Amino acid sequence: MDMFYIGFRDPLFSIIIFFTIIFIITFFSYWWGRYKRKEDSRYLDKFLEQFRALPTENELKVLISSGELSEKSWLLLAASYSKNGDYEKSIEIYNEILNVANTTRAKETMFLLGKTYFKAGFLERSRQIFLEILKHSPRTPQALHYLLLVYEYMRDYKSALDVLEPLEELDEDIKLDKTYLHALSLLNDTKIQDKEKAQKLLALYKERGVLAHLVFEYIFRIDPQLAWKNLDLEKCEILSEILYGLESKNLNLDIISKSQYLKDLYSARGDISLCTQSSIFEFDVLIKLNGSSNATLSFEYICSKCKGSYPFAFNRCSSCHVIDTAVLEYSLSRDYAKEFREENNSFQ
Ligand SMILES: [Zn+2]
Repeated sequence: MDMFYIGFRDPLFSIIIFFTIIFIITFFSYWWGRYKRKEDSRYLDKFLEQFRALPTENELKVLISSGELSEKSWLLLAASYSKNGDYEKSIEIYNEILNVANTTRAKETMFLLGKTYFKAGFLERSRQIFLEILKHSPRTPQALHYLLLVYEYMRDYKSALDVLEPLEELDEDIKLDKTYLHALSLLNDTKIQDKEKAQKLLALYKERGVLAHLVFEYIFRIDPQLAWKNLDLEKCEILSEILYGLESKNLNLDIISKSQYLKDLYSARGDISLCTQSSIFEFDVLIKLNGSSNATLSFEYICSKCKGSYPFAFNRCSSCHVIDTAVLEYSLSRDYAKEFREENNSFQ
């Protein structure tokens, strides 16, 4: 007991006790800090995980029916999913909104659902939705326009033409749609011979003066000389890619010599030398290069309505669905076909 008392009074013992207490406190404080950091990070990961994973169908059912978010918020969320290409989630949301008994925007939601089915390529489901809307509200031009598109994509041109009738009654401008559907119906008619189709398309073009690309693309493929004879020289620009790609044996020099644009185009291609310069920059560069470089023209099509750009020609814009709005733009590019031909020749 005395020994312990003496030890307790010893200043060295007090210092050891003091530092031991400091060590224990520091250790626990460090350990607690690490533990808290780990817990916080785990909580944050768990929290963020909810946003990385999309809600399941059952979760959506519970969330929508609970009414925690307004119907408008769900519609905005579905539109955002659709915009990002997640059509499946967007469709699930629309379907769940429609399943809620007291929905106030059933017609609008059905229209959006039909649109999303159409975008996702579920044409039959889209058709059913639009028909259902029209059953209750026949005077809905938006639904009629989409129903026409659905039939057109399904290649059921007869039904598409039938949709034009109620649209006309609603004072919608359907002239271009009518011509376009007649042209498509003609092109897909297996009972009509190619030559007859070409003549009928030509008659359609002469009557309406629209769809130059659709008409002349087909006629140049079937009968190039017929196409040259009836070529609308004012539409040469939009037909540039077709004209530029024609084989030399299918050219008609009499017609080419009548148009400055055609003279420039074929001089740029290097077939003939009818001019030494061009007002179009790309043609001018190619004329001056005179085949000394592996350069060629490449073509891009811009929709004059929505400004969407496409690497291929189109008759109906796949984004805004307007007909005959393509505008051509040129650029210079490397001629891989010429390089390939030259490489093959060097191996022979
Ligand atoms: Zn467009």
